[in-house]
Amino acid sequence: MAAPDEPMKNVRVHIALIVTAFAILAAVTFFPARSSPAQAPRSSTSSTFVASAARNATLKNELTWTFGGKQQRGWYLYDLLIGKTLNSKHDSTSSDFAAALAVWQKKMRLSADGVLDQNSLMRMVSQWQSNRLKNRSYATPDQLLTAPPADFYDPGRAAELRQVERNTYAAYKEMVAAADADLKLGSKYLKIVSSFRSREHQDRLRAQSPNSGSAGLAVNSPHFTGRALDLYVGGDPVDTKDSNRAVHVNTPAYRWLVHNAERFGFRPYFYEPWHWEYVK
Ligand SMILES: [Zn+2]
Repeated sequence: MAAPDEPMKNVRVHIALIVTAFAILAAVTFFPARSSPAQAPRSSTSSTFVASAARNATLKNELTWTFGGKQQRGWYLYDLLIGKTLNSKHDSTSSDFAAALAVWQKKMRLSADGVLDQNSLMRMVSQWQSNRLKNRSYATPDQLLTAPPADFYDPGRAAELRQVERNTYAAYKEMVAAADADLKLGSKYLKIVSSFRSREHQDRLRAQSPNSGSAGLAVNSPHFTGRALDLYVGGDPVDTKDSNRAVHVNTPAYRWLVHNAERFGFRPYFYEPWHWEYVK
């Protein structure tokens, strides 16, 4: 009586074995991937990056690095730009931020540990710098127009210091109109502090601030093209002191620029929150 059942029993045993084998295969295939740093960013509550987040909380204010011949401390001034680069809105001391950083690090072939150390920061800085104006040739007179005094932070600025490259000016006007519609800017926000500079004028500025260093007043300035604009974003308009830049990077005007300027063809110079270049 038992015999007719035997083949069916064998089939059941086979199915059970196959299901078990698949379950083991699935576990082996998926679980290690889920806990490896490269895949973990999919999870919003990843525990893998808790230690990285703690490290970032320290480095954010204390990392020592060098830029433009000057020693720099921390990367907190660049929080917003870093978030934009990583396409992450998470706080820079969170695990989610570390996870987003790890994705970027992997793409850049850096160690994907989610820690914004000197290596990763310098890689990010070079990415930002490579997005700036490539052609820095001196503007010819026909490429420039003289913008009205009302566009300037100092409306008393001389006409020769109110020159802007034509396409840059058109894009600037569009951008300011959009910012104004969003923010109701008023006052002096996003007015032009400085635009085209002649070599003579740049030399004069350098003579006035001999300690500005190469990160500040360059010998070969992008302002020679007429496509670089210094815009008023708050605080002391063009002072690179950390305490002053800390004011800049938190104003609604600056935050708006970081999120929107690219749409109008403008890219930032990370070190100077006021300096934007028209790269179209
Ligand atoms: Zn500038």
